[in-house]
Amino acid sequence: MPSSLLTKPVQRRPSEVRLSGRVLYLADDPDLVTAQLDGADVVWDPSIKLRDNISTDEITPAYICYYFDETLGEFPYLGFKAGERFPITRGSVKRGGFVASVAGKRRGKGSSREQSPYAEMCAGIQLVVGESIERIYRENCQNLGVLTTTDFALIERVKRGETIPLAVFTESEGRITRDIIEFGGLFNYNVARLQGVVTVPECTTPARPMTIAEKIFARHWVTDAAAGRIGVAAVRPGDEGFFFTDIRFSHEYVTPMAAIFFEQLVGKDEPLQDPSSIFFFRDHLTFLDQVMRREHVEMGLLDVATQLERKQREFAAAKGVRLYGQLEKRLNLTGAMTAAGSEAICHSKILEVHALPGQIIIGSDSHTPHAGAVGCVAFGVGTTAVFNSWITKDVRAQVPKSFKVIVRGKKPENVTAKDFMLQILRHPYVKDGHAIGQIIEYAGEAVEALSVDERATMTNMAAEVGAFTGIIAPDAKTADYLVAQRGMDRAAAERLCEGLFSDAGADYVNVIEIDAAALRPMIALPGDPGNGLFIEDLGGPVRVDIAYAGSCTAGKKEDMDMYARVFRAGLERGQRVATGVTCYIQCGSQEVFEYCRRQGYDRVFADVGAVFIEPSCGACINAGPGVSRQPTDVTISAINRNFPGRSGPGQLYLASPYTVAASALAGHIVAWEAEAVPVEA
Ligand code: SF4
Repeated sequence: MPSSLLTKPVQRRPSEVRLSGRVLYLADDPDLVTAQLDGADVVWDPSIKLRDNISTDEITPAYICYYFDETLGEFPYLGFKAGERFPITRGSVKRGGFVASVAGKRRGKGSSREQSPYAEMCAGIQLVVGESIERIYRENCQNLGVLTTTDFALIERVKRGETIPLAVFTESEGRITRDIIEFGGLFNYNVARLQGVVTVPECTTPARPMTIAEKIFARHWVTDAAAGRIGVAAVRPGDEGFFFTDIRFSHEYVTPMAAIFFEQLVGKDEPLQDPSSIFFFRDHLTFLDQVMRREHVEMGLLDVATQLERKQREFAAAKGVRLYGQLEKRLNLTGAMTAAGSEAICHSKILEVHALPGQIIIGSDSHTPHAGAVGCVAFGVGTTAVFNSWITKDVRAQVPKSFKVIVRGKKPENVTAKDFMLQILRHPYVKDGHAIGQIIEYAGEAVEALSVDERATMTNMAAEVGAFTGIIAPDAKTADYLVAQRGMDRAAAERLCEGLFSDAGADYVNVIEIDAAALRPMIALPGDPGNGLFIEDLGGPVRVDIAYAGSCTAGKKEDMDMYARVFRAGLERGQRVATGVTCYIQCGSQEVFEYCRRQGYDRVFADVGAVFIEPSCGACINAGPGVSRQPTDVTISAINRNFPGRSGPGQLYLASPYTVAASALAGHIVAWEAEAVPVEA
């Protein structure tokens, strides 16, 4: 424990709270929102339609997250869409004197960015109300000391300025979460824990049949933080504890804010615990200078964003942390200088090099479950949890319930893991929010038949499910991957997989079965990954302006194989990327980029007229080539989410790598057929 924390005073909050201020209803009606910002108080009426699915992209759009201090308080809800308008402007929430804000279902879905609740907090919001609240967002609120509730009856009490018992906000929580709320946040709680002021309840669950994820949690349960002892016989859903982490990582959107928290609260010169298992990534904003809108440049946002890179780089150097950084510009095939890319997108590199079966991995990003493709428990956490893990090397969690998705049968050749996911995402169990915070375990012969790369598409998109994480039990294919990808000894790879399966009799809250043979290539209509549809049901051709083939989800080696397969066949038929379509291909890492060169894919991409760009998150986060410019722009994209504004103002359809490439050739959305005859929508 850093010496500065040994004597740091910490205490619980008072047992009652009084929240003084107004209540902001985040309604569907933009006029109602504007009226509140102008000073009108709403008398609540259940017929008022609250906005559902307010994502963190809407609470703090990506460009707002270039700020990493209290300035964020100027910007909450700047991307909030009501009707067709964006009624909330800079500073308007802070000026309005709001203490609570109220939304509908699945509040805070999307990325794990803690900038969202931090921006709300810095604008004066102390209470977040939603019909349902997404796990990471709710945890981030608790970690920061922002109260959360789904009990709408509290709203009137807040308005009346009543004193409210703190227990109202803690009674349905486990002991640790309760203590975190009572100590006003995770950091204060951890200081109290490390000082011995507060104790963590023991795990008393007797041996029982467990899922694979539960077994991994049991192996990592911290029984004695001071002595470094871990492991209990068994856990069950609801058990809450601290778990030893094998890997902790963060990217430039989060590291600087976490670094500032660390420097301010722990001390600038204090060391991080075991920096060899911490990784930083410069991946999200590498290409930002190429696409930032002029008004944002004029607002000084490019300079602010540059600070993120610098802060992370300097902090990494000071603390001895491996940084997968930004590359120098280099020559491309035509002899021109290309823009600098990233060494890797965080999830790509964690899977390629670091993740192992049976590990617990935390990352500052909602798509951290990507690594679950090799049978580890990998999940996203917010900034406060990241910076606390630098001190403790553990993470708090409540063992989630699990549900299983069994994909049976043999899939058609033009159906991919992405199509599996779009089908799962439109299942009512997922779409109606029942899967929030649960673990999704994928199984069935169609999943077993997938490569680790394709499995990673499924675990990656556990984030869109709203799940805690996604996992696939490691098998011979996992061992093959570790041998081929890591050069690992086969016996060692197989040993790592031993015992990592779900027991017969393990508990699942739901089991969903999908017939792979009945699936067809899918798209998700703009607005939400849950808007899935078979392409053949589209009802007419949809023109395409941009085809984007990349991101952590779709920038792996096998994704590149798929793009190249479609484009090669197209070239043989004399096809190129259709007139009027700009097609971008972007790898998840330099390793994949080099793989493409070795396979000759770079030449195929050039010949077909696609733009092959250096690895980075890029367009996926509205920060690189491939973003839309106009609301009328239509993009077909292999990324994982299409929330409003995610990749520019246009209409973004999600699809598989095959569909993206085939649509780039056709100029409109088409399914790819193995025989290379496009099927018109
Ligand atoms: S590629 Fe997109 S989804 Fe993946 S880490 Fe980057 S921004 Fe997130």
